[in-house]
Amino acid sequence: MLKFPRPAQPTYDVLIVGASNAGLSAALVLGRARRRVLVLDGGPPRNAPAFHTHSFFTRDGAAPQEVLRIGREQLRPYDVEICATAATKVRPTAEGFTLTLATGAEATAPALLLATGVADELPPVPGLAELWGRGAYHCPYCHGWENRYNRVAVYGRGEAGYQQAVLLHQWSPELTLCTDGPADLTPAQQEHLARLQVRVLENPVAALDGSIRCLRALEFQDGSRLGIDALFLRPMQRQRSDLAAQLGCAFSPDGTFVQVTETGLTSVPGVYAVGDMAGPLQQALLAAASGTRAAAALNNELIFSSLITA
Ligand SMILES: Cc1cc2nc3c(=O)[nH]c(=O)nc-3n(C[C@H](O)[C@H](O)[C@H](O)COP(=O)(O)OP(=O)(O)OC[C@H]3O[C@@H](n4cnc5c(N)ncnc54)[C@H](O)[C@@H]3O)c2cc1C
Repeated sequence: MLKFPRPAQPTYDVLIVGASNAGLSAALVLGRARRRVLVLDGGPPRNAPAFHTHSFFTRDGAAPQEVLRIGREQLRPYDVEICATAATKVRPTAEGFTLTLATGAEATAPALLLATGVADELPPVPGLAELWGRGAYHCPYCHGWENRYNRVAVYGRGEAGYQQAVLLHQWSPELTLCTDGPADLTPAQQEHLARLQVRVLENPVAALDGSIRCLRALEFQDGSRLGIDALFLRPMQRQRSDLAAQLGCAFSPDGTFVQVTETGLTSVPGVYAVGDMAGPLQQALLAAASGTRAAAALNNELIFSSLITA
């Protein structure tokens, strides 16, 4: 017999939007804190195109979906419901926050944790979208090791292109910075890249040539080709969902990330944001850790503050 039977009412303590690394990790901590949690799963994680998740402690090389499968499996003992539906709208209510789901149903709870991630805005280079995560990457800590003996190109220009080329030099012995137009490098940056034997090509890029698992070359508009095994770039990003904006959460000065405290609290009381959506330090394990941290803070807030309207 339960000492503290839960009321048989269709309410939740916390709504979590996003069922990837950050959201499932938060759900685990909240479930183990005896919270009734609803997790909304709107689709695949950001790294879904990649075959492997690397640099994830105890899971190095696991398929992205396998990491999440284990995460879901380990939620089974707890009072965590996962619903394969996106949340489309959110509004503050007397009871906390009410989400409208894509099905038209609604769910309400005193606290809301957003873990909806970001979308990468790839430059319009033909072939790039098809090879994203399978030859074209953004993070050398995730996919540098596999390319340590390979011919690598960095796509970018100016300070960002320079920084990524210098970083990639740690992994690749044969590195080219492709700037797709004027390089916008300072003389000091040019001199540094020359010292590292990083080639700089300003030729306008036409396309990527390759098939899944096999990037062959960068093709330029003048008809020339650069044989490469991997391409690295830092795409622009945007929020994958507008729920934080609907609530009026504050964003970073450039508008990309939701502004949060160390524990993931946004500028709107009762609303937390975790994982990639809340900052540029983006790895699966970091997203999971931010979910863990926010979940504990949120649970404390539910206990000690006036979030529960009783
Ligand atoms: C190609 C590629 C390869 C990568 N490789 C690695 C790697 O090897 N190692 C590593 O550590 N990191 C890697 N990363 C980074 C990693 O994918 C992210 O840091 C991590 O997935 C962030 O987790 P997250 O939970 O914050 O967000 P995400 O994984 O982006 O998940 C957000 C979730 O929210 C859901 N969602 C969005 N809006 C809604 C809504 N309105 N309603 C319901 N659900 C919604 C989405 O469907 C998604 O499931 C890679 C990234 C890319 C792009």
